[in-house]
Amino acid sequence: MSASRDGAGGWLSIDLGAIGTNYRRLREHVGPATQVGAAVKADAYGLGVSKVAPVLHRAGCRNFFVATVDEALALRTLLGPDATIFQLNGPFAGSEATLADAAITPVLNSPAQIALWRALAKRRTQRLPCALQIDSGMSRFGLNEADILALGNDFAAFDVKLVMSHLACADEPDHRQNTAQLATFRRLRPLLPHAPSSLAASSGIYLGPDFHFDLVRPGVALYGGNPTPDRANPMRGTVTLSIRMIQERRIEPGTAVGYSARFVASRHSRIATLSAGYADGLPRAAGGRAVAVHPERPDVPLPIVGRVSMDCLALDITDLGEMPVPPGTAFELIGPHRPIDAVAAGLDTISYELLTSLGHRYHRDYIESME
Ligand SMILES: *Cc1c(COP(=O)(O)O)cnc(C)c1O
Repeated sequence: MSASRDGAGGWLSIDLGAIGTNYRRLREHVGPATQVGAAVKADAYGLGVSKVAPVLHRAGCRNFFVATVDEALALRTLLGPDATIFQLNGPFAGSEATLADAAITPVLNSPAQIALWRALAKRRTQRLPCALQIDSGMSRFGLNEADILALGNDFAAFDVKLVMSHLACADEPDHRQNTAQLATFRRLRPLLPHAPSSLAASSGIYLGPDFHFDLVRPGVALYGGNPTPDRANPMRGTVTLSIRMIQERRIEPGTAVGYSARFVASRHSRIATLSAGYADGLPRAAGGRAVAVHPERPDVPLPIVGRVSMDCLALDITDLGEMPVPPGTAFELIGPHRPIDAVAAGLDTISYELLTSLGHRYHRDYIESME
């Protein structure tokens, strides 16, 4: 349940129309030979999978990626049978039967996961769907060359839907690991059963067609994050976060603000106390770095000052001059004037972490803007 608009400390607006647009843009970018799936793990990066996944399904997406068993089961209930649901982290012992009953396609990352899934297939005398993950150089998930050779060619128990791997440095186009991982993926793929292949997530898509294979798996680009950090963002923004002012303080030079007195005013200052804090996903250390804007003066950057508290933060609004700011005024922290990647960089993090940290105390508003 979303908080009420009148009562909430902050308003989170999520543009489902923009998510649909982003899906279509990625499809145009990769062309008809490559399918575009969608990563909707972690509640669709915090935006609400129950709203986001049906929008993507209506836009034509039929391949969805989640991380955990519970996410996969919830998504199956939401989407019905007409979708392939890949569960990235693969099965733990004891979860295989539940996955199979819900027709989930687990990504088998290790010889142990392969053994679990094969044992279930044998018990049920049934071929079970799966994806196979190759570790092409990230050293996180997947089978390396020795694993693959040790497995031999015994995949008869499986209906292999996808052979995949994941890039560690795709957001740095010139990083040599990108082409190294591509070469490893190409070399190891033929050692596994023939199946559609997938290597690229959001940023990998923009490394060029060599990286596209049969299916790409964007996440953050769908939600408006920039998959090409060195260039203008080709995606539409999807999130606006506005935080409301509780009260205003006028303070003298030399006056401290917030816990640990980390900020001391150097001038006569207007300090707005806003109603969201680290319990709402805004890092405690944001003070001094993050900026918000007043909706009528988006040209005036207003810094967060001092330590962010659990439920509130201080915004230095002195640069608004004598403009009246009544209680309840909502300042934009993320949105059209404050792109998510710039905000995240200012907070020493990435859009992914900022989005997935957004708390549940905001009033959520789902809109469907046109293109
Ligand atoms: C999260 C994830 C994705 C999506 O990544 P983005 O960078 O958000 O596009 C794709 N594939 C795998 C294996 C993932 O874990």
